[in-house]
Amino acid sequence: MRNMLSAPRPILNIVAALISIAPLALIPIAPLALIGAAHAAECSRNDALGTSRVLEVDPATYPRVGLKSFPQTLPLRDGEVVLTFDDGPTPGVTDKVLTALATECVQATFFMVGRNAADHPDMVRKIARLGHSIGYHSWDHPHLNKMPTDLAEANINRGIEAVQTALRGTASTVPSTPFFRFPYFESTPALLDRLEKRGIAVFGADFWASDWNKMTPEEELKLLTGRLEGHRKGIILLHDPQMRTAQMLPAFLRYLREHNYHVVHIVPAAMKTVSDRTH
Ligand SMILES: [Zn+2]
Repeated sequence: MRNMLSAPRPILNIVAALISIAPLALIPIAPLALIGAAHAAECSRNDALGTSRVLEVDPATYPRVGLKSFPQTLPLRDGEVVLTFDDGPTPGVTDKVLTALATECVQATFFMVGRNAADHPDMVRKIARLGHSIGYHSWDHPHLNKMPTDLAEANINRGIEAVQTALRGTASTVPSTPFFRFPYFESTPALLDRLEKRGIAVFGADFWASDWNKMTPEEELKLLTGRLEGHRKGIILLHDPQMRTAQMLPAFLRYLREHNYHVVHIVPAAMKTVSDRTH
């Protein structure tokens, strides 16, 4: 966990950019000219929202997070949010989400459906290349709690394999990033136990935009910002295949910036740099 909140926002953006090109230990001694060049290369806007800090999540410490499903959540401070997107990747819509995030220089986490990853491996690699974290969300989004445990775990594994194949060219049931979210948040004690034994953190959410319901992007923005003001912080669940969310996102990110919220990027505990987690 790194605390960069004491720095003014332009510095935060610079630090976020530098994480991608230098080990953290080098940041304090980086000359200003280098910082400026790196910032310009990584983020085209000086007034972007930016990622305020990177939070390393160790599944041993945080096996299950998200207050909608579990008693524990991530150690976020007042005003800090983690952006998560489920059910993609979906060409066209996910691209809009990626553009909105890139415009504001923020990183998110995408919990992917394996079948979609298998259909669009180029999208999986694009999301990784942009520095976002990639989590897993089953093979085809079934009701895992209605299935025999072995079949449910096989579905989870097939989803992991599809994403791993897209990322690395070889199927593996060992996830590069040990983050999983149950479709519909429908876990079972047996599956939670198996994932914990495998060192995979299970993500719920602290609140969401209800973007599976029919509404306009403006209505979604109002709903989401209202919930944000109530919670003040947390893991936010969104869906990148939802066009209304893709259309709402630029305004939501501007809202975060204008109301002094901070975006926290979650990565596995062992990963130290953006470079590490994108290769
Ligand atoms: Zn889902």
